[in-house]
Amino acid sequence: MISFKMFNSLHLGKKLIMPATRSLSYVARVREIQKLKEDQAYCEQVFSKTGNYLLYVKGKPLLEKKGINFQPKWIDSNELKVISDKIENDSAALLGLDASGKPQFAISIDNHQDKAAEIEVEKSARFTDLRAGLFLVDVSTAHTLSKGWSLLQWKKTLNFCSKCGSPLVKTLSASQGACSKCTSVYYPQTSPVGIVSICDPSTDQLMLIRQPRYPPGMYSCIAGFLDVGESLEDCVRREAAEEVGIQVDKVTYYGSQHWPFPAGSLMIGCRAEALPGQTPDPCKVELEDARWFTRDQVQEAVDRINRNPNLRVLKNNNPNEIFVPPKGAIAHHLVQRWLDKI
Ligand SMILES: [Zn+2]
Repeated sequence: MISFKMFNSLHLGKKLIMPATRSLSYVARVREIQKLKEDQAYCEQVFSKTGNYLLYVKGKPLLEKKGINFQPKWIDSNELKVISDKIENDSAALLGLDASGKPQFAISIDNHQDKAAEIEVEKSARFTDLRAGLFLVDVSTAHTLSKGWSLLQWKKTLNFCSKCGSPLVKTLSASQGACSKCTSVYYPQTSPVGIVSICDPSTDQLMLIRQPRYPPGMYSCIAGFLDVGESLEDCVRREAAEEVGIQVDKVTYYGSQHWPFPAGSLMIGCRAEALPGQTPDPCKVELEDARWFTRDQVQEAVDRINRNPNLRVLKNNNPNEIFVPPKGAIAHHLVQRWLDKI
């Protein structure tokens, strides 16, 4: 174990010395990441010498298959230099630290996408569609992939001060962007979304909805962005009324998950109870269907996606064979939690 104070002392001089392996406490890890976000010179020094890098092409992270699981294919600084001898500031973002304390960065190589096929062969890995990739990895890795894409997108799209129109100067870590002329500072944003499983205790049924953009057979939970001035409870009650014409009560918080679409969201999972005797009246603009499902039907839908998570990305499923989003999606856990009666 090396303390943060000891570690800090190792890189105060001009020569950067990073221990090959170390075990940092949670607090030391957080403070090291904080330093990388706040000390641009230090971050640049670390970036060029000691990082691990996850490549993205057109938003697709490079993933490798290990056994039955998928994981990021990290490359080191020498491997990165082979791909590009100069990475632009706006093509990089800090992801965090690996288990040994090495910094991890997301790198967009859209400017070198002609090399993508060659990289895939050489690294025995594949640039994977993010919507599919998020369901192929564990929850922690999904957050890493999501963070990388969201920060790279933020760097790519936010270029000018909205107050005076001057160019922004963004940190390498993607923690913030400062106006080059006035005092305005901009930060990557996450939009809060309420997502809710609605049950009817009087009939022991669960409400699931279907949007037109879903693959055939998929049903999920109601979700929507928080309006300005709303609490989470207000949002969930409003979304239930808007989308399915149902009045709900007893809103309880379950957990949250970062989601990279459409542009960085925090999915806040809840459960709510419908007042008795209500029939869904789905909003035709947003929904294709909304129904109450029995426990047997919901269990069947969960079993189906657990047997074949690829249903989430296939286009030719049987529309009558209902399934829910796969593990890795907070909607899946909300549904499973209702099945488990917890
Ligand atoms: Zn400005």
